[in-house]
Amino acid sequence: MTDTIQHWIGGAPAGGDAARTGPVYNPALGVEQKRVAFAEASDVDAAVEAAAGAFPAWRDTSMAKRQQVMFRFRELLNERSGELAEILTSEHGKVLGDAQGEISRGLEVVELACAMPFATKGEYSENVSTGVDVYTLRQPVGVVGIISPFNFPAMVPLWFFPLAIATGNTVVLKPSEKDPSAAVWLARLMQEAGLPDGVLNVVHGDKVAVDALLEHPTVRSISFVGSTPIARYIYATATANGKRVQALGGAKNHMLVLPDADLDLAADAAVNAGFGSAGERCMAISAVLAVEQVADEFVAKVAERMSRLTTGDGRRGCDMGPLITREHRDKVAGYLDVAATDGASVVVDGRDPQVDGDPNGFWMGPTLVDRVPTSSAVYRDEIFGPVLSVVRVSGYEEGLGIINASPYGNGTAIFTNDGGAARRFQREVTVGMVGINVPIPVPVAYHSFGGWKDSFFGDAKAYGARGFDFFTQEKAITSRWLDPSHGGINLGFPQHE
Ligand code: NAD
Repeated sequence: MTDTIQHWIGGAPAGGDAARTGPVYNPALGVEQKRVAFAEASDVDAAVEAAAGAFPAWRDTSMAKRQQVMFRFRELLNERSGELAEILTSEHGKVLGDAQGEISRGLEVVELACAMPFATKGEYSENVSTGVDVYTLRQPVGVVGIISPFNFPAMVPLWFFPLAIATGNTVVLKPSEKDPSAAVWLARLMQEAGLPDGVLNVVHGDKVAVDALLEHPTVRSISFVGSTPIARYIYATATANGKRVQALGGAKNHMLVLPDADLDLAADAAVNAGFGSAGERCMAISAVLAVEQVADEFVAKVAERMSRLTTGDGRRGCDMGPLITREHRDKVAGYLDVAATDGASVVVDGRDPQVDGDPNGFWMGPTLVDRVPTSSAVYRDEIFGPVLSVVRVSGYEEGLGIINASPYGNGTAIFTNDGGAARRFQREVTVGMVGINVPIPVPVAYHSFGGWKDSFFGDAKAYGARGFDFFTQEKAITSRWLDPSHGGINLGFPQHE
């Protein structure tokens, strides 16, 4: 009998007898390795109840003690990151080195969470009126919900729960049902770090679990990361239910290569950002806008580098692993038929790659499509696989126009040696995260992460200062200590004296 991955509620596994379960594959072997329990609304109720029960004591735990738990968690995560990387590789498929990279970017946010006492200090104004002081406190919001996608099973939960917990909230996390083990592993590690039971709960499942969280009156906020249609739905539903929401959506990230760019640097960057994690990154570069006069040379450099990439089992030191499911692999491969119909030219076809791994894995090799028309679905859709499109443009203006016309606005990059062009680009482009000669401009933890347009719904981005704001609510206190000169009745609106 296959193992069933269970929920984690109140510091213990739950849901072993779930009526509904889903498959968890090993994508490099193409086999179902486990099942995962799917929560019903009653399971979500139990998790929210555990979180609500733990909230008063956790909120009232001193900052110093909360900080100590985060420090210990940081140490344990550092020590055991190899174990977590193996879990990521076995359920997601990404190569071990990339899994380690994902964990290290998550660790950054844990380290930021340790700075919670500094980051959530209030403000104080003395004597705003005679004998009256005003000051602000930042307090936790309560029970918070986090819903995460399959492509970063550790990093995305780590974008949110360390800040939420450090600031005194309690959490119900609903990770992707496709690779759910990392979330439970992290929750167990938090327990080992000294987190009281019930502060961090994990429920698995599908829309049923998500809807129960969105509708639960006790849940005060939702942090979501996933595709744009679902992000839109989450934002609309959770805000209609009175919750604060940060919903990060899908992407189509462009890289503009100007004629004066260092073409070797740009080609390295396009290959790294296009094919890392098999293109299953929200900050992957999926469309290169190459200025015509250097496009032939650029495409040749990219193709040459691609010929050196190896695809295979993530445990074997390959560059690229499999895709998450067979259906997704087939969908990605289908875009090559679309490319042919739409008049693009397939320079490197990854449909039948040489693989260092089991032939049944969900394999798709690196693929390069040139002269892609912007009307083609190959350009328009978020393919989320190892397919790099090249769109040829006449110059900066046309390139910028294409990027700004895209409904997505997550990340973008410009490659140039012209500081003036780069400066114009950072000012004019309608995208939330911009790289200048940097292809995947994921901000470090003490800046905030989030896109614009259809890549983001809400106003508080993830982590950084905006993350601390999101997980706390400000209270303003106006205080006066008894002074006989302020006695007497006055029904007028308070004015300064
Ligand atoms: P997804 O939208 O399919 O799923 C995300 C989460 O929503 C999962 O937990 C899933 O169980 C849940 N979900 C799925 N369908 C639902 C429904 N109908 N109702 C309610 N909940 C539902 O996304 P995915 O395929 O897991 O992840 C890939 C997507 O995430 C890509 O679009 C990628 O760009 C995006 N992503 C964005 C960022 C970002 O920071 N903007 C980061 C990582 C991934």
